[in-house]
Amino acid sequence: FNVPVAINEPVKGYAPGSPEREAVLTTYKKMYKEQVDIPFYIGGKEYRTGNTVDIHPPHDNKHCVGKYHIAEKEHIELAIEKAAEARIKWASTSWEHRAAIFLKAADLLAGPFRYRMNAATMMAQSKNVFQAEIDSACELIDFLRFNVQFMTEIYSNQPISSPGFWNRMEYRPLEGFVYAITPFNFTAIAGNLPAAPAMMGNVVVWKPAATQVYSAYVIMELFKAAGLPDGVINLVTGNSGMITDTILANKDFAGVHFTGSTAVFNSFWETIGKNINHYKSYPRIVGETGGKDFIWAHPSSNAQEVATAISRGAFEYQGQKCSAASRAYIPKSLWGDIKKAILNDINSFKMGSPEDPSNFINAVIDKKAFTKLSGYLDQAKKDADADIIIGGGYDDSKGYFIEPTVIVTTNPKYTTMCTELFGPIITLYIYEDKDWEAVLELVDSTSEYALTGAIFSGDRYVIELATKKLENAAGNFYINDKPTGAVVGQQPFGGARASGTNDKAGSVWNLLRWVNNRTIKETF
Ligand code: GLU
Repeated sequence: FNVPVAINEPVKGYAPGSPEREAVLTTYKKMYKEQVDIPFYIGGKEYRTGNTVDIHPPHDNKHCVGKYHIAEKEHIELAIEKAAEARIKWASTSWEHRAAIFLKAADLLAGPFRYRMNAATMMAQSKNVFQAEIDSACELIDFLRFNVQFMTEIYSNQPISSPGFWNRMEYRPLEGFVYAITPFNFTAIAGNLPAAPAMMGNVVVWKPAATQVYSAYVIMELFKAAGLPDGVINLVTGNSGMITDTILANKDFAGVHFTGSTAVFNSFWETIGKNINHYKSYPRIVGETGGKDFIWAHPSSNAQEVATAISRGAFEYQGQKCSAASRAYIPKSLWGDIKKAILNDINSFKMGSPEDPSNFINAVIDKKAFTKLSGYLDQAKKDADADIIIGGGYDDSKGYFIEPTVIVTTNPKYTTMCTELFGPIITLYIYEDKDWEAVLELVDSTSEYALTGAIFSGDRYVIELATKKLENAAGNFYINDKPTGAVVGQQPFGGARASGTNDKAGSVWNLLRWVNNRTIKETF
């Protein structure tokens, strides 16, 4: 198979005074004033119902940057119908012509769409330019380019034959349509969840998170500019419950590609189970959900490395990554040095609007997140077994700002050691050095989720033992590094337990879920 060899998109630095910094900030400022009227897309057509929702940047929540329209049930039914119509041609389009569209989308994103996509993410999802660049530019470009390569690896996997007969494996798309549901926290995921099944010949109905509609709209513009045929990906916005119920009740529903909360994902399994006799085939259920990701440090680890992993892993994008470090286990002998280094780092973080790239910390996504997180902080201030050593403050007078916070607890089962918070809060448990092995057991037994985790040690035997003991506690396991920032093609991403179906976004294993294989034997 002759496809361009995928290499990871180089990350732009956005240094002060650089042309790229100026370009992205100019785009951002222009978009800030634009008041865009965002349609939803069915069969390639724009729809506006007039029933709208205003979009506010989380860091400037009284300012409006545009609005989107709420679809009615009839629009969702129309989206399914248009997808079915588009399927007739798309499913039989050769893989090269499907691939070319997504490779072109990657090139357009690496070029003319880059600053617009980054600015949309910065503005509507409150992400600083460096975090936006690794997400909405590099990771999405990588998803598109690597998946094309993985697709050809799949197609080249063929059964053996002998003289007299020829066996073939045909990688057909699913019989029906795929439902993609995307989260606010990664624009790359928003692009990948509809694109991966579409690349494999499927048609898609896509519902982005309400807080992600702006960047979803730019992604749709990108796919259209790359020549994606009408109806292959249909973007619908509005009431999640109604959209999901309408889709899951349809007999042509063939699978769901989901990133979001465990509770919502669980409700999908239930509804799909109830409707099971109704579908043509067993739907593919592919989901990445929550995490309660750990850092475990052994007394042999390097204190500075552990501290950096904590302050980067817990606070990049305000901790709103499924992969974010949110609990850490620190040996007493290293605590003094680690504490000093973390406090140093956090004191250097500036908080504010992404319009100023020196603000490492921006706002959390919305009022609901702000209220929940500030509630946990208030509780920690009262609890005897919790001590806030830095942060703890919050303010929503201009935007939803929560200070990066470190809680130290004497109780390894303290609420914030076990509950997913999805915000800039990490809880640390300081243990006696001699108990390190028992603490490993504790990490595993308290891992209801199993998305990411990091261990730190300078001792190979300890690393081997910890890797073994925590074998089911994290689908992405980091040795001497922070647990965030998986790179497509390098660390395929996903976890099991309550974290999802572990189908590794951006990989052969993920793409295989979107095919309905036919084995052909032809006798001569
Ligand atoms: N892949 C991202 C990372 O490794 C996290 C994705 C997510 O938050 O869902 O940091």
